[in-house]
Amino acid sequence: MKELVGYCTKCEQEVFCLNGFLEGEVTNEKEIICYKCLEEKDKKTPRPNDQGE
Ligand SMILES: [Zn+2]
Repeated sequence: MKELVGYCTKCEQEVFCLNGFLEGEVTNEKEIICYKCLEEKDKKTPRPNDQGE
């Protein structure tokens, strides 16, 4: 199942939801950000505390 969620607010690429997995992230402001842009963001602002489980 593939559902179009919307468009990335940064690169305007289509962001889909695949079998319940969103190919990106939706912010509190309802902005959609694709994985590619999320990776770019992570490079600039690494958050080592988020890696742990
Ligand atoms: Zn993007």
